[in-house]
Amino acid sequence: MIIDKERTAYSLVIGGESVAAASGETFETVSPTTNQTVGAIANAGLEDVDRAVAAARRAFDDGPWPRMTPLERGRVLRRVSDLLRERVDEIARIETINCGKIIVESRGDVIASANCFEYYGSLATQLWGEQIPVNGPLLDYTLREPVGVCAQIVPWNFPFLMAAWKVAPAIAAGNTVVLKPASATPITAVMLGEICREAGVPDGVVNVLTGPGKVIGEALAGHEGVDKVAFTGETETGRRILIQAAGTIKKVSLELGGKSPNIVFPDADLDEAVNGSLFAIFTNAGQRCTARTRLFLHRDIHDRFLSEFVSKARQIRIGDPLRHETQMGPVISPAQRDRVLGYCAMAEEDGARLVTGGKRVTSAGLVAGNFIEPTVFDRVSSEMRLAQDEVFGPVLAVIPFETEDEVVAMANSTIYGLAATLWTKDVKRAHTLARRLQAGNVSINYPTVNPPEAPFGGYKQSGTGRELSRHVMDLYTQVKNVVVNLNPEPFDWYGRWPSDPGKR
Ligand code: NAD
Repeated sequence: MIIDKERTAYSLVIGGESVAAASGETFETVSPTTNQTVGAIANAGLEDVDRAVAAARRAFDDGPWPRMTPLERGRVLRRVSDLLRERVDEIARIETINCGKIIVESRGDVIASANCFEYYGSLATQLWGEQIPVNGPLLDYTLREPVGVCAQIVPWNFPFLMAAWKVAPAIAAGNTVVLKPASATPITAVMLGEICREAGVPDGVVNVLTGPGKVIGEALAGHEGVDKVAFTGETETGRRILIQAAGTIKKVSLELGGKSPNIVFPDADLDEAVNGSLFAIFTNAGQRCTARTRLFLHRDIHDRFLSEFVSKARQIRIGDPLRHETQMGPVISPAQRDRVLGYCAMAEEDGARLVTGGKRVTSAGLVAGNFIEPTVFDRVSSEMRLAQDEVFGPVLAVIPFETEDEVVAMANSTIYGLAATLWTKDVKRAHTLARRLQAGNVSINYPTVNPPEAPFGGYKQSGTGRELSRHVMDLYTQVKNVVVNLNPEPFDWYGRWPSDPGKR
């Protein structure tokens, strides 16, 4: 499979230049559709981490970016957005080849990334402080200032979109970044670095390092020149990053795993709930941190709903993700495929009933890739591994329930708290349960959506901090308080000794 006729090698982006790794080493990146090599990528090491952090440091400490007016910075971000829109087809195609996501979803991710840059291009001018009425002849106000050099580490399931979610707000606020994509899907992050340069982002503001997470991810998290780490990935990796970052008391934000519930009540529009629930689990072949992997069906509708759901799941068109008609592509790697199938075997051992799927797809043309059938297990109970662990593949656990209290208790019974969906026409129930579910994102009669205007993030071990919306600016700015003396009388604490300081 050819990614780009002209281009099969991708460099690091450091200080505005495309450069080889200091060691000269490269690694091969493959397509999950064929498991064949599609490009050679610079393999960054510790020396490159130092080079990239130094470039980001210079750009922050002495460069024009943090000193530009927000309006000027916003204009550059909107230029990035325009370039992304012009290049949707090209970027989406490469994303699909490198991560196996179907082309329709890749196009959606690039457009969502363009929207993200456009949104933060506008928000750049809206980062004002506050004037605080304090008790005394003083003017007190706050400034929102950028944090500094931000290391941004992203996963393989939404390689381009996660990079956009990280880079756009950080640079809008005047920070500089070192972006580290997942080793499995490095190409489009390098392209984003190059596009930022083309749009006029000054040298050193967006640096991109490709290479092993264990080496360069950890080095970034512990680096003295880095002020903040923003991480998206597995909960276990997030734990390691917290430990690495502790040495220099870095600011850390984490977007981690999920095991999100999808709850269907008998009064729901069942056709819509079936269609929405299919989307919520099987898009991106189930490799979505917000995938609704636990389907809670009220006993009164369980059989009817499940039979309709399974018949539609079997019709999902699996195939070459580059073809427009394909509805589900491969999972990221042979190791991930085996892990997912291992969970299917465990679910059967634990007593769950396999209703459909559970196997590799070995039809002609797909046997070399990492394709798995849409899979549904019924009679799952809340304690089973399938109901507790993040599987990250197209595997659904169906759990029956009878009462609201019972379903809320089960829905909240994992270490995660990323997202949840409710299907019901009862307005009171919908809003009451939205409050009782321990999740950062709840959708009512809608499967899952994350527009840039709305906050996104996890409760419990699904993370810390909120991405997107205005809330993410709390992660990329720090608040400075400024106090100004307005008292016409000169300050003289010792000369004018207060008779009763308690009365001030
Ligand atoms: P991962 O944790 O294995 O890797 C994520 C990134 O961290 C990669 O760039 C990787 O190279 C790097 N990394 C690996 N080990 C590291 C270490 N020791 N120190 C520093 N960096 C290291 O995750 P993944 O397998 O790429 O992605 C899937 C996971 O991401 C799932 O758990 C999913 O739920 C999660 N995810 C969460 C969100 C969210 O916003 N909550 C979004 C997408 C994905």
